[in-house]
Amino acid sequence: TEIERAVVHESVGKALPPGTLVDALSDLPVPVERLTGDDVAPTDAVVAFGPEPGFLDARWVHCIRAGYDEFDVDAYRAAGVVLTNSTGIHGTTVGETVAGYLLAFARRLHVYRDQQAARTWERRPYGEPFTLDGERLCVVGLGTLGRGIVERATGLGMEVVGVRRSGEPVEGVERVYTPDALPEAVADARFVALAVPLTDETTGLVGEAELAAMREDAYLVNVARGAVVDQDALVAALEASGIDGAALDTFESEPLPPGSPLWDREDVIVTPHAAAMTRAYHADVADLVRTNFERWRAGGDLVNRVD
Ligand code: NAD
Repeated sequence: TEIERAVVHESVGKALPPGTLVDALSDLPVPVERLTGDDVAPTDAVVAFGPEPGFLDARWVHCIRAGYDEFDVDAYRAAGVVLTNSTGIHGTTVGETVAGYLLAFARRLHVYRDQQAARTWERRPYGEPFTLDGERLCVVGLGTLGRGIVERATGLGMEVVGVRRSGEPVEGVERVYTPDALPEAVADARFVALAVPLTDETTGLVGEAELAAMREDAYLVNVARGAVVDQDALVAALEASGIDGAALDTFESEPLPPGSPLWDREDVIVTPHAAAMTRAYHADVADLVRTNFERWRAGGDLVNRVD
């Protein structure tokens, strides 16, 4: 089937100014229009942030996120609608954000920034600051995000281990564990970074037992999805000093509710699901859509198909 039109759904506004994406796609050989609502034609390609009921009438839907857990993949398959996602483009952004969290914790930058707001000139106790050099990081999930994190951590002199379903080796990762060995994988790590998709298998992946398996001076980093961590268990572990802190970009409920105990904690860095933000996001997504458009026309397989 030919695609006769590409529509950029208003939902992309959650990640980028929609006009930038429309402009970046203006070289497609079909009209590119902005779409409000979900009234689409069977010959439409839809570019969207999340699902809408009407998208099941389209020919192809491209999700501008890597995580497509909000899409009912079975329904798209049943309706014969091709579904693609945007994995592959967030390694640098999220990798740099995670490097930032790690550096902040080691060098206490998050504390000094808080102090600055109160004009407080006070150095942290001698025993607190440390260097990342030589510290161990465990990266759970070694796809685009995971590898982006690994590359930066090795550049900072860290010793990196990881968790991967296949257990196959990955460049820069000294030891790769399989998911059943998660408690063992995290046990010796100063930092544990979560970079898995949200699936039935990964929901609640890090709970009371995994937090207990972590070192008492360990930090948890979650740039995956909130529900990968049992948030109540995390709060309990922080309150009991079971771990030293956490950097969280994703939460069970977003925005993080004002009453959440996570807001007030000095040992927690909260970022508003912003780890992958960049002003080049529209260009990165447009490259993916353009590639797949050309493949579609040539009758080839699309990249990043999730159905
Ligand atoms: P990806 O598909 O490239 O990598 C995910 C990896 O996790 C794959 O290698 C997969 O095999 C592996 N995996 C799946 N289940 C696993 C398990 N149980 N144990 C270990 N590994 C497992 O995807 P990506 O682009 O790296 O993104 C990963 C996830 O991160 C997305 O699904 C999304 O939810 C989240 N994400 C968040 C942000 C953000 O802004 N915070 C940005 C991009 C992606």
